[in-house]
Amino acid sequence: MKQLKRCPNCHTELKLNSDGKTQYCSVCNYWTKVGTARLDSIMIYA
Ligand SMILES: [Zn+2]
Repeated sequence: MKQLKRCPNCHTELKLNSDGKTQYCSVCNYWTKVGTARLDSIMIYA
């Protein structure tokens, strides 16, 4: 399983949500579950 460390949209470092289960980007609001890569979200370009 792959854990994202940087946002695939804007390459900002992802932050860990307080629930410990999701990571999010504070810049473009991309988010992903920890341990998964939501490649579908890469389809959304600003
Ligand atoms: Zn982003």
